[in-house]
Amino acid sequence: MKLHWQIAIALGLAVAVGSLVPADSDVIRFCGFIGGLFLNGLKMVVVPLIVSSIIVALLGFGDVSSLGRIGVRSMVYYIVTCFLAVVTGLVMVNLFEPGIIDGKPAGELLGLSAGASKVSEQVSSAKLADIGDVFYRMVTPNPIKAAAESDLIGLVFFSLLFGFFASRLPGTIGKTQHEFWEGVRTTMMGITGFVMRFAPLGVFALVAKAFSTTGIEAIRPLAWFFVATLCGLAMHMFVIMSLVLWGVARVSPLRMLQAMLPALLTGFSTSSSAGTLPVTLDCLRNRAHVSERVTGFTLPLGAAINLDGTALYECAVAMFLAQAYGLHLDFTTQFVIVFLAVITSMGVTGIPSASLVAIAVILGALGLPLEGIGVILAVDRVLDMCRTAVNIYGDGCGAVVIGRLEGEQDILKAPA
Ligand code: ASP
Repeated sequence: MKLHWQIAIALGLAVAVGSLVPADSDVIRFCGFIGGLFLNGLKMVVVPLIVSSIIVALLGFGDVSSLGRIGVRSMVYYIVTCFLAVVTGLVMVNLFEPGIIDGKPAGELLGLSAGASKVSEQVSSAKLADIGDVFYRMVTPNPIKAAAESDLIGLVFFSLLFGFFASRLPGTIGKTQHEFWEGVRTTMMGITGFVMRFAPLGVFALVAKAFSTTGIEAIRPLAWFFVATLCGLAMHMFVIMSLVLWGVARVSPLRMLQAMLPALLTGFSTSSSAGTLPVTLDCLRNRAHVSERVTGFTLPLGAAINLDGTALYECAVAMFLAQAYGLHLDFTTQFVIVFLAVITSMGVTGIPSASLVAIAVILGALGLPLEGIGVILAVDRVLDMCRTAVNIYGDGCGAVVIGRLEGEQDILKAPA
């Protein structure tokens, strides 16, 4: 049986087991152990794989102009698709109005204590601090520390510089560099394949634990918020990205979904787009047939800064809480939220629940109390699984779009 079907079956079984077995049982504790091992196995590969993939990609570029072109196209793609994702989230929350129950703000019902007048006072005096932080972190003062702390932005930026200057080395030195990094990258892909053999087991363990600890009951009070966010994520992934794939890359979205299935399922189960990067790279290269040059450059960069699902979620949370506090948000404020969601999502690391930090920054910048974060925690785990899959899909589509714009003909020509 193919690996992605094994993973899918494991996922279904895990939802059933997780919903039936209590969170404090030995079975779930054991699941936590096994799931943690699997996740560690994937994370183990991430840093050397990111560094070697970027460097090999840059060494293969040959001329600076094609590198510049791909760089600019990638950035345009990231910003436009992220903006589309956030606006989708905004529309959904405005449509569903999850923060309003029976015509009244749901703040009290949800246990939010800050009064509306105090909140709106703070909102009007808020400052847009902390946003520059994303750009500041790019230039890491210590690449080893960035690697040790899985600070992807710093690591990617350093690897880009390294790859660029290594590509200018002459003669044997340049050739040795190329062979060395190519060797590292191939070895890391080998280890990824090995770790992925345990994916059905790892996925089962992780998902059973997640469903057992979160429980369907916890979702009930926030049902509308949950549904609105889910609809937004689904709309972005299945409608908007399909249009992008059709319209810009001229490839079949169905084939894309099929090619990315292992990465999507792994991302969903692990809630970590950074941890899933080795699998994403494998899918795009070997199932979607995008070149090494494009995947090596776009996927690590995308994993670091292109998090569509996260940005959508950040916007949905901010809007939901504003509704719950009974604030009327004019067009300008809503636009500020969109802008903040796009920018702060770039600084979110692809690990579980990482967007909560960015949400704190947005709420702080808007002057909304941070207590709202406590309210959404009940649904965060399951939504994290979904938005992580969307993050990964966005990166994959980026590689396909850029590859097609570079004239690659083989991409998604045959079913995966
Ligand atoms: N878990 C997400 C990811 O890995 C990040 C987040 O939104 O919390 O992509």
